[in-house]
Amino acid sequence: MLSMEIIPVDDHITAIDHDLLGMPGIGVSYLVRGETCALVETGTALTVPHTLAGLEQLGVRPEEVEHILCTHVHMDHAGGAGYLAAALPRATVYIHGTMVEHLAEPSRLMGSVRRAVGEEAWVLHGDMLPIPLARLLPAENLRLDLGRDVVLEAIATPGHSPDHLSYREQKSGGLFIGDAAGLVMDRWGMAFPVTPVPTYDLKAHRATIAMLQRYDFPRLYVTHHGPHDDVAFQLARAHDRLEELVALVDAALADGDPDVETLAARYVPYEGDGPVGPMARSWSRMSVAGMIRYLLKQR
Ligand SMILES: [Zn+2]
Repeated sequence: MLSMEIIPVDDHITAIDHDLLGMPGIGVSYLVRGETCALVETGTALTVPHTLAGLEQLGVRPEEVEHILCTHVHMDHAGGAGYLAAALPRATVYIHGTMVEHLAEPSRLMGSVRRAVGEEAWVLHGDMLPIPLARLLPAENLRLDLGRDVVLEAIATPGHSPDHLSYREQKSGGLFIGDAAGLVMDRWGMAFPVTPVPTYDLKAHRATIAMLQRYDFPRLYVTHHGPHDDVAFQLARAHDRLEELVALVDAALADGDPDVETLAARYVPYEGDGPVGPMARSWSRMSVAGMIRYLLKQR
């Protein structure tokens, strides 16, 4: 049996490190327990066995998980939804209404991701399994009462992607923030907003970070990676890192032809050949490309 890293968070919330990209410290799914259970974030198809092993380790039976919440349709957030739904027979899957059809019939989505990331990176995601429409619900107005004062409520947090939703949990007051303010990987010494092609929207992203700063969340449940209590610091840093990227790309565009590789190495200067190097470079490249595309469209 796989042995997963379990991160206890609150008495009713637990993070399961699901070994995204084959490494610890990159991605988690959160188990939220009231009278019934919800899983927030699915990882990819390849992380599902790890998430299921985590549930088993925690003594949660598959029938107890009644809800699977996705923050957005990217492969590391919804790619595993089909395999999870197959293994958790009573679960309903929630995602923004505009993306429901992609989970029911994922072939077009998989095709476009495959073209965007290339064959080499595609194998790190794994195929998606279609989900019967009857088990899918739109999440943008979601208010999910799990019992014992545990309630999950959707908050629209577009920018990173247009369909991005975060989920506030009433009992702890914390926010399952997905990728809305970027990633925070203390283990790997990295924190930066991801601004990917092709649908990145800077205006929406700035508004989302400003909106989140007006709330008083005691904790952020970040998908990449883990819970963070220094909320004001994390949101301020996300804001500053985002503006750094805007300035970097803006200057390169003003100079003429921006080189994605050079800019990516400056945005996320990950040194050495550590195991997360390829991931850091790939996400940095994707972010630079997304920002170039957005800023060019505005001109
Ligand atoms: Zn994403």
